[in-house]
Amino acid sequence: MSRCKELFKPLHNDRVGMYVCGPTVYGDGHLGHARPAITFDVLYRYLTHLGYKVRYVRNITDVGHLEHDADDGEDKIAKKARLEQLEPMEVVQYYMLRYHRAMDALNVLPPSIEPHASGHIIEQIEYIKKILDAGYAYVSEGSVYFDVPKFNKDFGYGRLSGRNIDELLATTRALDGQTEKRNPADFALWKKAAPEHIMHWPSPWSEGFPGWHLECSTMSEKYLGTKFDIHGGGMDLKFPHHDCEIAQSVAHNGCPSVHYWMHNNMITINGQKMGKSLGNFITLDEFFTGNHKLLAQPYSPMTIRFFILQAHYRGTVDFSNEALQASETALRRMLEGWKRLGELKASETSTVDVEDIRTRCYKAMDDDLNTPVVIAALFDACRIINQVNDGHASATADDIAALRDIIQTFLVDILGIRTEASDSASGETLKPFEEAIDLLLNIRREAKQRKDWATSDLIRDRLAAIGFAVKDTKDGGFEWSLK
Ligand code: ZN
Repeated sequence: MSRCKELFKPLHNDRVGMYVCGPTVYGDGHLGHARPAITFDVLYRYLTHLGYKVRYVRNITDVGHLEHDADDGEDKIAKKARLEQLEPMEVVQYYMLRYHRAMDALNVLPPSIEPHASGHIIEQIEYIKKILDAGYAYVSEGSVYFDVPKFNKDFGYGRLSGRNIDELLATTRALDGQTEKRNPADFALWKKAAPEHIMHWPSPWSEGFPGWHLECSTMSEKYLGTKFDIHGGGMDLKFPHHDCEIAQSVAHNGCPSVHYWMHNNMITINGQKMGKSLGNFITLDEFFTGNHKLLAQPYSPMTIRFFILQAHYRGTVDFSNEALQASETALRRMLEGWKRLGELKASETSTVDVEDIRTRCYKAMDDDLNTPVVIAALFDACRIINQVNDGHASATADDIAALRDIIQTFLVDILGIRTEASDSASGETLKPFEEAIDLLLNIRREAKQRKDWATSDLIRDRLAAIGFAVKDTKDGGFEWSLK
């Protein structure tokens, strides 16, 4: 059984408080969103399985996340709203629903609480007041900045990321647009809104908006208390985001809030960082439909999930068609083994050691969520199933029941793999569906060629109503995607 309960004592009896930095909702979810969601979903599932009462908070950033993560530049959501002539909250709602849909497809459980930054402006203002009272922030031309040099002297700043802050502080070069700050390393707790800024709230200092780092300190404390067990997020958030969170909560409470920090590593595509400018930016929906030039085929959400879990969360993951196809095959083999389990004939005697597999699975999970080792043990379970099925080994009814329990517990409940046929091989199940859409769009193209606009418009409008975006390309062809 698990030793986790001996090793991990939550701060409040058996209640675990867990906070994970969620997405800034101004675009479609991509693999960078999938990895922390799946990593901390497995942690949430495992702690729950062990009997802890877990309160899992994952926020939605809907204000204050400026471009370049600096204190200048436009708010990412406000910019999208301006370009598309929408209310910022329309942008948030649209992308949040799409994010939730992608998370459902990946079988990521919803968190216990999903607070929005914009819904906690009052709490953030109160939080800033307390930091000002403690003397670790100052007001400058309607904005409030955190005093990094002062905090660094008293408590040390940047310890989580291990940055050389003294060096950072020594470079006192005044940067453009940062003249309001006493030191370039200071960061905004509250920003006065420029006249053209469309998202702003009243405050004692100015009509403005909170700094990005502040929401996580404020909302984690509101829902989990001044001290809580686990804070997670992607490694790219260590600095400045998490070091700033630490500075804020220490200035606010006099001590750090977080007991354990956990960071998942990043995802690369064919060895390269993901980025819009590199042309390798693939959204989750594009993975699910295969509708991207870098993808050789669609990949089911469960293939993506299984692939991510085949690596340890602290290691990097590199996506390529070959690697994903290997995961698809491996998952199929695993699910075939699971199906074959129902057909096994029990013997009076046993030549297999099933409990050893359970022990190995718990040991691996207790060892910092070592999911690849769990998956290797589950493949050994499949090997036993195949050997018994082929008559090369024998298992008792108890062995077979234990195998079923182990696979249900670790593959389904903890790793969160759905075993239904619809998820197991989407490449095959999606193909007829895609061919049907192509067929419809070819009929539409032919209708257009004979100037039968009624038919061509009918097909386009009906597909749009169902949820497909259809685009005509310059060469007379078409592209489609799920909206
Ligand atoms: Zn955060």
